[in-house]
Amino acid sequence: MLLKRLRNVMARGGTAQQRLNQVVKLIAADMVAEVCSTYVMRAGEVLELFATEGLKQEAVHKTRLRVGEGLVGDIASHARPLALADAQHHPLYAYRPETGEEIYQSLMGVPILRGGRVLGVLVIQNKTRRQYADEEIETLETVAMVLAELLAGGELISPEELRPGDGNALLPLRLEGLVLSPGLALGTAVLHAPELRLQQLVAEDTDQEVERLHRAIAEMRDAIDRLMASSDLAAGGEHRDVLETYRMFAEDKGWINRQIEAINTGLTAEAAVQKVQNDTRARMREVTDPYLRERLSDLDDLANRLLKHLIGGDFAGAARHLPDDAIVIARNMGPAELLDYDRQKLRGLALEEGAAASHVAIVARALDIPVLGRCGGLLSRVGEGDPLALEGDHGQLFVRPPEDIHQVFANSLRQRALRQEAYAAVKNLPAVTRDGVEIALNINAGLLIDVPQLAVTGAAGIGLYRTEIPFMVAHEFPDTHRQAEIYRKALDAAEGKPVVFRTLDIGSDKVLPYWQRAEEENPAMGWRAIRIALDRPALLRQQLRALLLAADGRDLRIMFPMVTEVAEFDACRALLDLELQRAGERQVRLPASLQVGAMVEVPALLWQLDELLKRVDFISVGSNDLKQFIYAADRSTPSVNDRYDLLSPAMVRLLGQIAEASLATGTSLSLCGEMAGDPVGAMALMCLGYRNLSMTPPSVGPMRVMIRSLHLGQLCEYWARLVGLPGTAVRNALEHFARDREIAI
Ligand code: PEP
Ligand code: MG
Repeated sequence: MLLKRLRNVMARGGTAQQRLNQVVKLIAADMVAEVCSTYVMRAGEVLELFATEGLKQEAVHKTRLRVGEGLVGDIASHARPLALADAQHHPLYAYRPETGEEIYQSLMGVPILRGGRVLGVLVIQNKTRRQYADEEIETLETVAMVLAELLAGGELISPEELRPGDGNALLPLRLEGLVLSPGLALGTAVLHAPELRLQQLVAEDTDQEVERLHRAIAEMRDAIDRLMASSDLAAGGEHRDVLETYRMFAEDKGWINRQIEAINTGLTAEAAVQKVQNDTRARMREVTDPYLRERLSDLDDLANRLLKHLIGGDFAGAARHLPDDAIVIARNMGPAELLDYDRQKLRGLALEEGAAASHVAIVARALDIPVLGRCGGLLSRVGEGDPLALEGDHGQLFVRPPEDIHQVFANSLRQRALRQEAYAAVKNLPAVTRDGVEIALNINAGLLIDVPQLAVTGAAGIGLYRTEIPFMVAHEFPDTHRQAEIYRKALDAAEGKPVVFRTLDIGSDKVLPYWQRAEEENPAMGWRAIRIALDRPALLRQQLRALLLAADGRDLRIMFPMVTEVAEFDACRALLDLELQRAGERQVRLPASLQVGAMVEVPALLWQLDELLKRVDFISVGSNDLKQFIYAADRSTPSVNDRYDLLSPAMVRLLGQIAEASLATGTSLSLCGEMAGDPVGAMALMCLGYRNLSMTPPSVGPMRVMIRSLHLGQLCEYWARLVGLPGTAVRNALEHFARDREIAI
């Protein structure tokens, strides 16, 4: 067998270069190819011919191709195999005269991968137009794994040279990324899945290896079952969903069979798992569909868990010993894996991939952990133990930051900590202005892990529970029972404080990965929220049923999003009445009190306020959507989302009219968009008559302090003078007012 002979060559003495020369000779002979060559990556960008059988020897260490250049460069840039019967006519073919390769027509090449990184490319070539079979690609990939170990050994080329060159590898470095969760962090790099060196790649006894694999899979399943049963997890609803998906994948015949096939090519069980993991990672690079990407990343994580059972020890993930100031570095990560880390020690997270709507980002925001995503070159440039400064406000990661940067970060963090302490100290004091006007401060929530923020911030309640968030984090549509469990736990955790459940607002920026939808030109104005619910009434009825079950005789507040016409509210209300009737018939305990409201976030509703207010118990202004529709400026397009100020005349007048209308009818009013968490925005809202605001939990402390330092009567007098001024002028004036009177904004 080729692998056994390879192992013998590797075990022989001589220099690494001599061994590599032997290896290419052996592969060429075994695979009946006239040429076998190994290209090694230098500085992450150039592939150098390191050994060849068949090409001219004088080309060795001379022929170089950039990543992406020629067929070899293409294999490296996509980390994917290529098999071409007619390579010379391929548009990417790059002819190098010094190699004498013009006589070879066909080419098959595979990346040499390790820990998800491309270390080089292994190629065979034939004179004839040979059609390479899939099994031959598999064999070459297996051989490439063995070569990866030889390259990583450091004898042939130093590990620093294999990494992307930043001049001196130890110089400070600044990487840029996308802010997935804001905040600052100073700490030590911890690799989520550190590169591991497999002790043995080639199997002695294939049957025994298959046996080992089955045993490890069984152990892993048991471990997942135990984790799911643990009481800890019973509290974290979303975490459990993810583990259930893992459990399902662990049974996946296709996945297991691919590993058995790899063992049958001569690999040990752990090498087989790693080989299949390499394939998964290569697919991950190509796939753009968010659902598939999440699934592939689950499989990647599962492979790590399986390797743990095969090799023993905790080499990956949260179970390892963590420094007290860990900043975790990963290609990508699922939400469950993030929750595995000890929150006390986790300072931040940087991902090579990741998107704002990804589940890990949603969970990190709830936990207030700064996260940077799409950090190009992260894994190849950051090593375990590197000091890091993560700037999750503008999207920068400083690797081995110089002293001055370190100082700036340390100072900012100290200031933040002091402010946090100050907020904590006043959290039980009422949010009352100096002239006695009380403002109800509520939090916006979406995950069960958000709910404890009620106690941390001292907020009055949850003014907006975005029920779509648990749906976004789940792996399939939660059924009534599952939904009821989530809502029940939210009510339990709120301990009697009011919770406003907003029915599903999916669509637009809130994508359910498992829900295939038609492409829309303008998803924000598309098929979303109650538009979906009214077209698929079973969906809304299921959610309303779950809410009634969860309330189980307690107070219940339900709010419908994106109401555009009063008739839509009526239709939603009618479905709720059907569910109330159904619950009554089935002896479900009906809510002690039921309040039903609507979000005011679509401009059309503004001209039907009188009709709406007759029907609702409360309204809540969604300033995020209202703003984007009023100004025709997409809230998720960076070039326009900040272009217009909420304090400009049109918006101020509108917000005032809404407040007047609700006051006139005695209908409860709140505002739950981002504006509620902005101290200057809140000052304006208070002048307009708003007394109930719902915001992200970290905004509650600063808002309470601001309100307690403000004399609303004085502010309202001043406010009257600002009517009609442009938004920026109003903002500046309010800031000056606050500064002159020591109002804490
Ligand atoms: C809003 O639109 O202002 C709002 C609070 O809802 P969301 O941000 O979830 O659309
Ligand atoms: Mg909205």
